[in-house]
Amino acid sequence: MTKLTFKKPFTQQESIPEAGIERAIEVMRSGRLHRYNVVEGETAEAALLETEFAAYMGQQYCLACSSGGYALHIALKAAGIQAGDPVLTNAFTLAPVPGAINNAGGVPVLIEIDENYCADLQHLEQMMQESGARYFMISHMRGHIADMDAIAELCEKYNVILIEDCAHTMGAFWKGKKSGTFGKIACFSTQTYKHLNSGEGGFLTTDDADIMARAVMHSGSYMLFERHDAAPDVSVFTDIKLDTPNYSGRMDNLRAAILRAQLPQLDENCRRWNERYQALENKLSGNPAIQLSIRPEQETYVGSSLQFRVEDLKPYQIDSFIQNCSSRGVELKWFGGKQPHGFTSRYDSWRYLNNQQHLPQTLSILATTFDLRIPLTFEVEDMKLIGEIISDEVGAFLVVPLIHQPAG
Ligand SMILES: *Cc1c(COP(=O)(O)O)cnc(C)c1O
Repeated sequence: MTKLTFKKPFTQQESIPEAGIERAIEVMRSGRLHRYNVVEGETAEAALLETEFAAYMGQQYCLACSSGGYALHIALKAAGIQAGDPVLTNAFTLAPVPGAINNAGGVPVLIEIDENYCADLQHLEQMMQESGARYFMISHMRGHIADMDAIAELCEKYNVILIEDCAHTMGAFWKGKKSGTFGKIACFSTQTYKHLNSGEGGFLTTDDADIMARAVMHSGSYMLFERHDAAPDVSVFTDIKLDTPNYSGRMDNLRAAILRAQLPQLDENCRRWNERYQALENKLSGNPAIQLSIRPEQETYVGSSLQFRVEDLKPYQIDSFIQNCSSRGVELKWFGGKQPHGFTSRYDSWRYLNNQQHLPQTLSILATTFDLRIPLTFEVEDMKLIGEIISDEVGAFLVVPLIHQPAG
């Protein structure tokens, strides 16, 4: 029997909506790509986008900037971080998170994750006590949202400022409240593999006027901050404009035009992601050797990727399992590798942290964790096939061989 294979690429995104392409062409024809390059009476695409994203989030202020990692960096600066300050963050995240902390002069203090890939609350409290950190940069990694009520409570108890990395939770909710509205500041990415796609880009949102004014100045507004609509009144900038360094990281009008056309489709796209996620989850759940994460009922997630574990796989079987899936067209990422690979890296490979922390629980969970992207170019039927292939390949390792039946 020939084995079923899957043919579509895991890195193919949908095209930009026609309206966005048309608007982008208009922006290019105008020549006014810089966000502060406007004619009399004109509001720049970047400023319009900020107003629209702030409204989407139900937050007062929004800054569009050059990347998600950049937003995280200036979020810490705008929140008042000083050189050498400890910053709590979950150990399972993408490299730009510890990078942003480092860039802001902070020292990451890593928090263990639990079996659902969220920050372990017990370890979080312990590290809040031990480190005395004033900042917690929570990364809702791969869209898994921790118990935000418990986290808010802990932050309040230990006087910790919460900054949310919502790179994978744009459009998600916890108990009906948008992810990104629990902390003082939230940061988003619009890099190609996230929920909006402008190649590169990011947002910072907050309700805090001083923080926003500092963030706007950091992003490189020069003295043109009046051209931001989703920003506080100019009076808030009186001292801040002189006290805040320019770290140049603006978004341009071309990207903003591309994003503005996508924003109205975001919620519908989240629904489409979940349809695909659930079809895959459903297939995988039929195989008892596959451990899926439990998604609490308070969480309205966006299933743009799926994680699963195969705890019975031996370390020496991991590579061949990934290879076997890959040869049938299913691209899995493994978060347990000692060597960083592609976008994936384990916390102990961030050697610049010079960190002596050992996180056995995180290592053990990641050792058998696999991950796959769910691009919207895949159909629901595709997800069923992918699920079948994975389940099949897991089975190839774990099923006890059948006793040979004589033909007859
Ligand atoms: C992508 C990502 C970021 C940073 O986004 P960039 O726009 O690529 O800088 C931050 N955190 C997580 C978890 C991400 O996946």
